[in-house]
Amino acid sequence: MKIAVLTSGGDSAGMNAVVRAVVKAGILRGCETWVVREGYEGLVRGNTEALSEQSTDNPSVNLPEAASPADGASVNLIHNLRFGDGELLKDGTGDYLGTRSLKGRYIVRVGFDDVRGWFAEGGTLIGTARSKTFRTVEGRMQAAENMIREGIDALVVCGGDGSLTGADVFRAEWPKLVEALHAEGRITAEKAQMHAHLKIVGLVGSIDNDMSMTDLTIGAPTALVRICEAIDNINSTASSHSRAFVLEVMGRHCGWLALLAGVSGGADFVFIPERPPTSESWENEMCDCIQKHREVGKRKTIVIVAEGAIDRDLKPIKADYVKDVLAERLGLDTRVTTLGHTQRGGRPCAYDRVLPTLQGIEAVEALLEATPHSPSYMIGIQENKITRIPLMEAVAMTRAVSSAIEAKDFDKAMSYRDPEFKE
Ligand code: ATP
Repeated sequence: MKIAVLTSGGDSAGMNAVVRAVVKAGILRGCETWVVREGYEGLVRGNTEALSEQSTDNPSVNLPEAASPADGASVNLIHNLRFGDGELLKDGTGDYLGTRSLKGRYIVRVGFDDVRGWFAEGGTLIGTARSKTFRTVEGRMQAAENMIREGIDALVVCGGDGSLTGADVFRAEWPKLVEALHAEGRITAEKAQMHAHLKIVGLVGSIDNDMSMTDLTIGAPTALVRICEAIDNINSTASSHSRAFVLEVMGRHCGWLALLAGVSGGADFVFIPERPPTSESWENEMCDCIQKHREVGKRKTIVIVAEGAIDRDLKPIKADYVKDVLAERLGLDTRVTTLGHTQRGGRPCAYDRVLPTLQGIEAVEALLEATPHSPSYMIGIQENKITRIPLMEAVAMTRAVSSAIEAKDFDKAMSYRDPEFKE
């Protein structure tokens, strides 16, 4: 099997560990492995420059025809992928051959050594992008043609619900795309037959932990660690000056980051989208609570506002407004801190190395066992076990959460997130 892996949507810590796990597990299971740079956009762009036309900075080197190890076990050419710098080429003994630009090449064959150490790298080294072209049939047809040209028949996508939906659309449409490519003379009948079906597996890379039917998404634990570190830093200054801080944290329509940050950072009050404050006037509810904390001797106040926090009428609750309420009603010296993109970046914490590694291995197994009739799977984790979940069921459940919130049915929203949720 020839497996390609791509990262798509917003970046999250642990995406590199996914690529590493899929590449290593794939090679160990006898597959050839590829990475696609820049998400779906890379699939659409494909390889416009032929390898043989590439130059090296060492003219005496005769570049091998295929820039790829013959098999995983006997790597004869190492692509040291630090994208943008191009490939560093070495022979089997490690002697330097030259470098080759990756310009015009988005689908790149990789070996075991290319992903060494990737578990510790933040962001995604193969790049991520949002692709308008992939949303069109023509774009997906071009992507299919590029994949077939390289002989790829299986795809691992690591991204959010949009990316996983795109993967499912692509897979469902694949037979028709192949037929059309053949009809237009863009691929041979033999290739059309060989590539009649596409195998796809999704992994959820998202700092928001907003996917239903899995307990944790790749990148969420690291984002939580970053927020915790920020709260620890703020706590000391808040305490020194007896100040209040209002922290806005990411998470979009999901309150997981805000809630867990509140628990682990000792917040006084937390606003999340799924559980808007119950009383008519949340301002009074919050001030009463903080007043009590102050009365028992707390010198500092921390309020966390999730990015998507709302009141019972679905009106956004904004950090600046919360600050004004604290300052005016309680007379607290109050500051707002928006953590922004610092929450996304940096080295993955240990769990964002373990989770993608286990899930990447499972993704390869799921591809090897896939049949044309089995559903596309998303790899999740439920009660500490790595699981396979029909991808579109998880996406539909995730979207149902947003719809339930819009309909002000907050209990239903929670039950879609967690089937065992009880009011
Ligand atoms: P994040 O949660 O970080 O936003 P995401 O995966 O949900 O990640 P999107 O922007 O929704 O991010 O999707 C990423 C890409 O997936 C899109 O730019 C597009 O190329 C592809 N995609 C999304 N939805 C579809 C769809 N319905 N059909 C085809 N492609 C899609």
